[in-house]
Amino acid sequence: MKIYNSLTRKKEEFKPLEYGKVKMYACGITVYDLSHIGHARQAIVYSMIAEYLRFRGYEVKYVRNYTDVDDKIIKRAQDRGIGALELSAEQIKEAEIDMANLHIKDADVKPKASENIQNIIEFVKSLIEKGYAYSTEYGDVYYIVRKFKDYGKLSGIKIDELLNGVRKEVEPGKRDPLDFALWKSAKPGEISWDSPWGKGRPGWHIECSAMALHELGEQIDIHGGGKDLIFPHHEDEIAQSEAYLGKEFAKVWSHCGLIKINGEKMSKSLGNSLTIRDALAKYNYEVIKYVFLQKHYTADIDISDSDFRLAEKHLYYFYDTLYKTTVFSNRYKNESNNYLENFNADDIKEKFIEAMDDDFNTPIVISYLYDTFKYMNYIMKNVNKENRVQTANTLASIIKSLKEVYGVIGLFGQEPKLFIEEIKDKYLNELNITREIIEKLIQERKDAKTNKDFELADNIRNKLLESGIVLNDTREGTTWTIKQLYTIE
Ligand SMILES: [Zn+2]
Repeated sequence: MKIYNSLTRKKEEFKPLEYGKVKMYACGITVYDLSHIGHARQAIVYSMIAEYLRFRGYEVKYVRNYTDVDDKIIKRAQDRGIGALELSAEQIKEAEIDMANLHIKDADVKPKASENIQNIIEFVKSLIEKGYAYSTEYGDVYYIVRKFKDYGKLSGIKIDELLNGVRKEVEPGKRDPLDFALWKSAKPGEISWDSPWGKGRPGWHIECSAMALHELGEQIDIHGGGKDLIFPHHEDEIAQSEAYLGKEFAKVWSHCGLIKINGEKMSKSLGNSLTIRDALAKYNYEVIKYVFLQKHYTADIDISDSDFRLAEKHLYYFYDTLYKTTVFSNRYKNESNNYLENFNADDIKEKFIEAMDDDFNTPIVISYLYDTFKYMNYIMKNVNKENRVQTANTLASIIKSLKEVYGVIGLFGQEPKLFIEEIKDKYLNELNITREIIEKLIQERKDAKTNKDFELADNIRNKLLESGIVLNDTREGTTWTIKQLYTIE
């Protein structure tokens, strides 16, 4: 299996530190407001990676933290006149609701910074003892960036270039503008904990180093996060952890791409920030996942409403096919291995593994779906008395494989009938027509035909078509579909 490593800038053969086991840490959410779909993508990506590694037989421990103390949280809590931990506890609850509604397989451990203060203090003390950090008379502790010779190895940033970017005025007690805070002394009214350096709170970077050490031990296999965290957050995590450990911290640094909406960076001030909640109010959770999985996890993506609409139509087509083929195969399949000619029952799984082993190439595995579903529809159309059982057995085998392997990346976990009804209801609502009206008009058309009033019957059909509803006359009676949605004839 190959995974892209941001540290070496190469796709590398993945070899865990301990045979058969994977220790993975991904930076979680700083909880000061409702989570947006950038958070959703990151959570979907690392949960997908953890699930795939499990599918390949690894025993995975996946840790995803909550940053529940930081400047933004303190500021927002002050604005709202509540305690910082009160705000973060409230927002963690909201984030958990969102992740549950997205049906994301949870991390195994979700540590919070506020519950790891003692671990963080011990970590900082050790960095001071090792000569990588110093405390000031103001009660702050800083990391000495120049002391860590590998600084910049992840981001490629050079220390001398960095100097141009930092503010010239230095916080009191800070010896070098490059140094970053490990522990921040409390300002009046701010949340704080007792420490050897007085009342204060941890810096952001040290939280992750300390929580990764506490939950996963000294070295980890995969450290993940959004690309925006490479510098300074991950660079600083490396500096802290490797100074502390005296050896490599994470074998693989993995970064997922960022999201733009309608060509612009997501931001509240631009009015294009999309919360998970707002997205879920409009789209089924698998539609949201599908939009992300269509792109490689390392790629930045630019999404607009039309991407969700298209994903919705594709999934409708897939689920509609699943529904109809499941009904058919349940009726005619038998226990034999009597399949259609040229059908290879292992094909779906083998191709899935081949693509996913290549740095979790979900765009490829998604593209395979089009061929698979086209084939399913093709054999359904060509069914006859002679090949009925083979067709049913073949379809049953395909459906089983699809659910097994695509379930790993979070697709096809829903009851097909419920999914298609949900999407239909949504479209009917948009078309401003109800099932009752459609059924009533179908009945009127039937009556018109019985009365040989074919003009009226045609008028009713055309009227429905103008409203976006297509009628299909079958031997079992007249059914209807929504024009905008792909479906099997
Ligand atoms: Zn982090």
